[in-house]
Formats: sequence, C-alpha cells, structure tokens
Amino acid sequence: MGNGVLLRGGRVLSFPAGLGAETDILVEKGVVAAVGQGLSPGRAEVVDVSGCIVAPGLVELHAHLREPGMEYKEDVASGSRAAACGGYSAVFCMPNTEPAIDNSSVAEYVFDRGVDEGLCMVLPHGAITQGRAGETLAPMGEMGTCRAGVMGFSDDGSPVSDSEIMRRAMEYARTMNALVISHSEEPSLSAGGQMNEGYYSTLLGLRGIPPESEEIGVFRDICLAEKTGARLHLAHVSTARSVDLVRDAKRRGLPVTCEVTTHHILLDDSGLTDYDTNMKMNPPLRSKADVDALLEALADGTIDVIATDHAPHAPHEKETEFDRAEFGVVGLETCLALVLTRLVETGVLSLEKALEKLTLAPSRIMDMGRWGYMPTVEEGAPANLVVFNPETEWIVDPRAFKSRARNTPYGGWRLRGRVVHTVFRGRLVVREGDLSPGPEQGTARKKQKDAGRVGAGERASAAAGTGD
Ligand SMILES: [Zn+2]
Repeated sequence: MGNGVLLRGGRVLSFPAGLGAETDILVEKGVVAAVGQGLSPGRAEVVDVSGCIVAPGLVELHAHLREPGMEYKEDVASGSRAAACGGYSAVFCMPNTEPAIDNSSVAEYVFDRGVDEGLCMVLPHGAITQGRAGETLAPMGEMGTCRAGVMGFSDDGSPVSDSEIMRRAMEYARTMNALVISHSEEPSLSAGGQMNEGYYSTLLGLRGIPPESEEIGVFRDICLAEKTGARLHLAHVSTARSVDLVRDAKRRGLPVTCEVTTHHILLDDSGLTDYDTNMKMNPPLRSKADVDALLEALADGTIDVIATDHAPHAPHEKETEFDRAEFGVVGLETCLALVLTRLVETGVLSLEKALEKLTLAPSRIMDMGRWGYMPTVEEGAPANLVVFNPETEWIVDPRAFKSRARNTPYGGWRLRGRVVHTVFRGRLVVREGDLSPGPEQGTARKKQKDAGRVGAGERASAAAGTGD
C-alpha cells in the first residue's frame, strides 16, 4: 500500500468549488487525507505537481473493452491501461461482447477482471435483451444485484428495434431505478449505410445514414421514457434535431440525459473525402451544421456528458475498403487533451464545465458514490485523481497507445494539455505519463498465472487480498 503520496503545489479543480489556488494534497490510505499549503509529508512520497491541475479522476460512460470474446481487439487489461493513462478512474463498458454481458456471471467476470488489473474501476453495463438479439429481456434484476452492480442497460451497437420490448425494459428498469441507455437508430433507414447521408455521401458515392435514423430513435425513446417514468440516457447523440429533442425533454422535466462523443464534436463528414476508415463510425460523423448544434448544446447544458465510445479494432478490420471496414475509433488516451485543446482553449466550455462533463455529470448519472467515487478533491474523499498539465504540448502517436488498437483519427494532431499522473484508490497508477505497476499488482497477476484458470470469484478475492 505504501506510505501515501504528497502532491506538492498543484491547483485543485473540485466541484462545486471550481479551480483553486496552488496547494498540497496528501493522499493516505486511499483517501485525500489533507488539502492545504505547506503540508508536511510525513512518510509519504513527495511528488512535485507545480503547474498541474489536480481534478477528480475521469469517468467514462461509454467504452468497448471487447472482453470476453474479442480480445484480439482489446481486453480489460489493455483497456484499463489505456484508461488509466487517459486519466480515468472508472470506465463503463458496453455489453456487446461475445458472449454478451446479458447475465450476472458474464457481468461479474468483466467486473472481476477490472479488479484484477487494479488500474481503474471497470464497470459493465448490461444488455437489455438476451444476446442483444432484441427479442427477450435479459435478467436485469439479477445483473443489478450481482457483484458487478449493473445499473445501466443497453444493447449498444444495435438499437432495441421492437418498441414494445423497449417499453417493457423501461418499465422494469424503473422498478430498480436503473438507467436505460439508448443506441438510437432506425435500422430500416440506416441499413447498409457507410457515412452521413448528405452532400459528401453523394460526392463519394457511399451509401448514407440519414440523420432521421437517429432522430426517430431518440424521439421514440423519449416518448417511452415519458410514458414509463424510466431514467433514459441517450448515447452518442450526433445531430442538431437529436439535441433539440433532448433540450425539449429536459425543459419538460423528464429524467433524460445524453452524451456526445469527442469525435462528433471535433470532426464532420467533410473529413471523409480521402476514404479514411478512421473516420468511419456509427452514428456517422455528421455535417458542419450538426457539429455547431452539438457545440451549442454542450455549452447550454443540454449535453451532460462527454464520452469517447472507445471502440478498438484490429488493423485488418480498419485497413481495408471503406465499405468493409468496421465502425468506430479509440478515444480513451486522447479525450482529455482534445477537450482541453479544442473546447476549453477555444472558449466553447470553461475548464470547470469541461471537467464537469467528464467527472461530475457521469458520476451522478451512474450514482458512483456506491463505488466509492466522489467528484471532489477534498479531505476525506476517496483518492481517485487525475493530474494534468494544461500547458504541455504533444503530438498524438498511435504507436504509443496502451490500447491494443490504433484506430484513431487524431494521429499526428498537436494537442495541448496532458495527463501526468493518475491516482487510483490512493495509489499512483500512472506516473509521468506512464504506467507504474505496483508490486502488489504484479504479485496478483503472477499468482493468477500460476494458478491457471481460476473462477472469477477466486480471482476477485486474490486481488482484494493484495490490497488496492
Ligand atoms: Zn452505440
């Protein structure tokens, strides 16, 4: 466990206090033990963080970690390393794995794999329907009460096409106060589509996905949320009308939240003119007018959360003809820097508002207090922190990613602001921008290897025994 860490001379960004003056932060026994100037380190290691901002660790609401079943793209280990280096303390991962996370044993397996790695919380969302086939409700109650404590449900990757099934899912979710996360898409309109339908799809001769495909889904799910009283979160909204619908729902007091991905606010469909498959995602990059509407919705609070929709793929799945390439891009290791460079420096969002959408808002939506996460940096709070230098310039080099995947549209981009350290449960898991494997973690990994394949429960207790 060590003797703690004294972060010397950083500026604290906390909620609701905002950005404070330079101070010291003493982390001991997994919590913030003291915040103040000129703290005595005692036996703690002193780390100079002058020039840096110390904020609550980031919370990712929407990532694909691909385990179980598609570990050649990513797994919980590589995904956790990417997340920690990106400044995340918690990553919610989507259930479109093989098998799908549609029951408590798969949910606990993924959750326990996260505990094994010990770099951030890995918290699975559960599928709405069995096998994500859209036909029979998955055992949501069982997933909610299992060790993984699943509270968000989604068939993400696909919509729940049958409105009656979605209605029943929401009715059930409401009884357990769970969140339904909508991947909004009308498949009869989007089938076979490769990119946004519009001027550029015509120019490039690619089949389009009309904005209405998403908007019909958003509208339907808002209607059903209103009818059932369920809490609804709209994943990756990408069009002007989608955010108008959310704005209207919020005005009417409905329990609706939404997220936007980094790529949908930084890129548009004009970037596809050289058929770069790293610009291919679902929903697709939209028009410049849509991007402007998303930025406005971010600024006025209609959009609650910035997510990455981290979607790792193997090189052969992206380095192929555009219409055969997989949808999606990675994002965990670039999100904070992109937000700082493209949203904060440009004045779209204040630093506080930007960090709010990466910490406070997602943690509220997922009720993260139950996981020992608080979006604050104050005495007594669990020590899950990101330390970043807002002035450091760097160039994105996909080869340096901790993720197993390299499918990013940002390779070569010059960004300003970089994660320096990440503290997870009181331990410096990332130090000077790189992983710092603690001795206890190495021991846990070795023990498992020696033991061969052990049950998920045993693995969790092995990891817990070494102290996190
Ligand atoms: Zn999706």
